[in-house]
This record gives sequence, C-alpha cells and structure tokens, in this order.
Amino acid sequence: MPAPVIDFNRPSLAGKELEYIQDAFSRAHISGDGYYSKKCHAFLETTLGVRRALLTTSCTHALEMAALLLNIQPGDEVIVPSFTFVSTVNAFVLRGARPIFIDIRPDTLNLDETRLEALLTPRTRAVLPVHYAGVACEMDTILEITARAQVPVVEDNAHGLFGRYKGRFLGTMGALATQSFHETKNITCGEGGALLINQPDLVERAEIIREKGTNRSRFFRGMVDKYTWVDVGSSYLPSDILAAILFGQLEAWQTIQARRQCLWETYAAGLSAWASAHDVRLPFVPEDAQQAYHMFYLLLPSLEIRTRLIQHLKDRGIYSVFHYLPLHLSDMGQQFGGRPGDCPVTEDVSDRLLRLPFHNALTTSALEQVISALHDFTF
Ligand SMILES: *Cc1c(COP(=O)(O)O)cnc(C)c1O
Repeated sequence: MPAPVIDFNRPSLAGKELEYIQDAFSRAHISGDGYYSKKCHAFLETTLGVRRALLTTSCTHALEMAALLLNIQPGDEVIVPSFTFVSTVNAFVLRGARPIFIDIRPDTLNLDETRLEALLTPRTRAVLPVHYAGVACEMDTILEITARAQVPVVEDNAHGLFGRYKGRFLGTMGALATQSFHETKNITCGEGGALLINQPDLVERAEIIREKGTNRSRFFRGMVDKYTWVDVGSSYLPSDILAAILFGQLEAWQTIQARRQCLWETYAAGLSAWASAHDVRLPFVPEDAQQAYHMFYLLLPSLEIRTRLIQHLKDRGIYSVFHYLPLHLSDMGQQFGGRPGDCPVTEDVSDRLLRLPFHNALTTSALEQVISALHDFTF
C-alpha cells in the first residue's frame, strides 16, 4: 500500500466550531454582527489590545476597507513589497493608486526598511509592511520614517496573528492592520479576515464603510434614532456562521500556536545540519521578533534544485509549494513600470524559496517523513 499523501495544507477543527454553528442557528441570527461576531471582536480587541477589531469577509476586503478609509485617490502612491500576495497591492490599485515596489531584506524577506526613505514622495499615501512568515518587520525604523513623513502604515498581518515585535503584538503598530482567516492561515473559518483599527479617529468611519455606507452600527448602539446612507461603503461583514467557526478556533489559539511552534522547531532541529551541508538557508528570526509560526520554508541554492526537489518530494507523496512571483514583474506590475532588476532580492528569492507541509493537523510522524525525504535528496 502506498504511504498516505502528506498535504501541504489541510484545515482541521480545533474544538467547538460545529457546536457554535448550531448555537448560531438557535440564536436565530446568522447574518453579520451576531453573537459570535461580537465574541470574535471582543477577543481580538482584548487579546491583542487594539482599539477596534471588525471581522471582514477576507483579508483582501480588510485591505480594501483600509484603502477607502485612507481616502486613496487616483495618482496616490503606496509603498508595498513586490514579494507579497497580490491583494496587498490590488486593494489600493482598485482606488487608482500607483504601487511603488520596495525590495525585501535577504534575511527575513521583509520589506527592506533601509530603502524606504528614498521611495517616499509628496504623493506617498500609505506604506504597507507585510510581516512575512509571521516574523516582524523592523517596525521602529518604519514607524519613525513614516511618522516624520506623516504617512500612515497599514500592516498586512495575514501571516502574523499572535506574533510579536519587541513584545508588542503584530497588527497593533500601524494606523490599521489586516488579518486573514483563509484556509491556509494559522486560524481559519475558510474565508475570512479582520480589520484592526489602532487610530481612534478611523473607528466610526470603518464601521460605516463596512455597513454599506450606513450608520447602522450607531443605530444599533442607540446613538442615532434612524439609520441612513452617510458615506461610501460596501458589505464587508461575514455571516455569523463563519464567525462561530472562527470563535471556536480563536478560543483554541494557545493550543494551535503551541502545536505550530513544536512543528516548526522539529523541522528546524531536523534540518539544520542538512541545510548547512547543502547550502540551504532556513528561516531567520531576529531576536526582537517572536514569530507567529506561520510557515516553514527553505531557500535552496538554485531554481533547478528547487524544481527537482519538488518532484522528489511529490514522488514520495509529499506536497510542497512556492510563492510569490515578484509583483513588479507580473503583467499588471509591468503596466506600472516594473522592470527586471528593480527588486533584485525579491527576484532571486522568488526562484529559490520552497514551503514545506505545515498545518495544525500535521502529525509528528508525517513531519519526520518529510525530513527524511529531504535527507534522501541528491543535490
Ligand atoms: C493570505 C494573504 C492575503 C489575503 O488573504 P485573504 O483572506 O485570502 O483575502 C493577503 N496578504 C497576505 C500576505 C496573505 O498571505
């Protein structure tokens, strides 16, 4: 019998998700902002210490809300890493912004803060650090440069929930931050996200934008006697069924994070000698960063080796994936003037990075199989 397949990602129940779905029905409220949405909001606000947390239908939509909240207009510039998921950029391009791609640091693969100052112009309206793999960007420098230029920071924290920088939770340092609860993230409800609002004067308008441009939230709090259309907006709130699933996962966050830490450390211990013997680099986590254990990646010596290694693993039923293709070289990125050589570290890393299977239900024995399959590979 062939060995069972080891998936790259696999969603799993953490605890009471199914019970909570049933309970949401018995409360007769499955549209947005019901009992479980409020539980999730309160959990995120108190655990992370953010002024306001609002669930959204995705991290993409939380980023779109951020672009609306910051009044991004055609011709505005936003500084964003080329090495990220397309939504970090697209949410702002939808409002007519021009992306200014910044290269990454070769160690953490985070936005290279030493290049930031030179990319600021009088048209810069936002800077978007992505805490890659849940490892913090160099936030002191980024916050200092952006404060001087009076440019808001939006943290794309899709990878970094519960990660920290110098003790502070990721997602609590920018004016705004966004989370993802997509199936591939540490905590999931299938598709979902959240907007974290740290700048108090953005809270009220965020609630309005999320509720189709109406002051419905204020109406429900008894602050106005009727609700009406007051601003632009859309429908960014998820069903309370999704919030019920999410709350079941959030409640188990410490177990989930402890499990992921254990998996990450088992990979690191099992691969460190192998990596140094074969010129493979393992993830780097600076001392200031308490990582969120979102992924385990390898930086291989070449594209050719990566291609062969993916096949070698696949032949043994092990699924590994790579990302991101540099955004400045994509069809859209080139329309914004992106050219080869603009972000050399991004271009190099993109060819050599490989992500190993990593999810909450990965067993230690499956993980040992991945490690031994890597040891069997001929460079
Ligand atoms: C997953 C991800 C997103 C998008 O999340 P969705 O919830 O799928 O919209 C955005 N940015 C980064 C860095 C991501 O990894």
